[in-house]
Amino acid sequence: MAEQNLYHEITEEGFGIAIEKDGENIFEKQSEFQKTEVFNSRAFGKVLTLDGLMMVTEKDEFFYHEMIVHIPMLTHPNPKNILVIGGGDGGTVRELLKYDSVEHIDMVEIDEVVIEASKKYFPTVSCGLDDKRVSVLVQDAIEFIKDKKDCYDVVLIDSTDPIGPGVGLFNEGFYNNVKRALKKGGIVTPQTEGPFAQSENMKKTYELLRKVFKNVAPYCSPMPTYPGGYWSWGFCSDDIQAPSIDFKADKRADIISKTCKLYNPSLHGAVFQVPNFVKDLTK
Ligand code: SAM
Repeated sequence: MAEQNLYHEITEEGFGIAIEKDGENIFEKQSEFQKTEVFNSRAFGKVLTLDGLMMVTEKDEFFYHEMIVHIPMLTHPNPKNILVIGGGDGGTVRELLKYDSVEHIDMVEIDEVVIEASKKYFPTVSCGLDDKRVSVLVQDAIEFIKDKKDCYDVVLIDSTDPIGPGVGLFNEGFYNNVKRALKKGGIVTPQTEGPFAQSENMKKTYELLRKVFKNVAPYCSPMPTYPGGYWSWGFCSDDIQAPSIDFKADKRADIISKTCKLYNPSLHGAVFQVPNFVKDLTK
């Protein structure tokens, strides 16, 4: 077999994946925050990494973007104003635009290179970024959130890991600022790392979330190219309880499900039924 051209991701925990590259990088750019790279692959189509860490692939991004969006959005009865923190590839915004109730989305992404690369190489992911309901704000979300009060029905923290510019997004003061920006009945959903491969990060994150929000519950789902292939998100709210196993989403769920490869109404309450080790990590 010809010398394989492999992309390796080995995280701080010494865990990761390898993907056979189809040729060299088709995009590479260093910003003041991180290095964005894009390459083609037989197994996952185009792949985008930040500082060598896996972010988005054409083939499996739906697992992540459907989970971070449709669980909070279909639990909230009438979400109109949404904040996406990070999310520069546009996949989270794409899923949010499926809701007729959504009047406006602010997406606050610190690195315009991520947006540039996604628009150029991931049109099926970034397709919603030019929608008239979307404001793309290129700035640090830690600063952006400081003066917001009573603005958003749902806030999605679609961040990198707690490294580099993402460190400050896993922080009690930041979570308090996000909470102040919520309207009554609001829901916050951060991505909360890999339960198996990044258990320390996850444990620390839930200790902070539980200091800030009354109702906090993890939910989990597969995510093939993230460390351990198993990922988590947090359901956080002072006013709304996390969905139980017999949660019945309203008629929007059947409409949304028809546009999804993963989400369907029977999954909605089930994703909160987490393994014992995840309960222990997040109590
Ligand atoms: N949505 C992708 C996925 O499938 O998981 C990955 C997440 S998205 C690429 C993470 C984004 O968070 C990156 O584009 C990064 O630039 C952004 N980010 C990190 N720290 C930030 C900060 N302090 N303010 C705004 N955006 C930030």
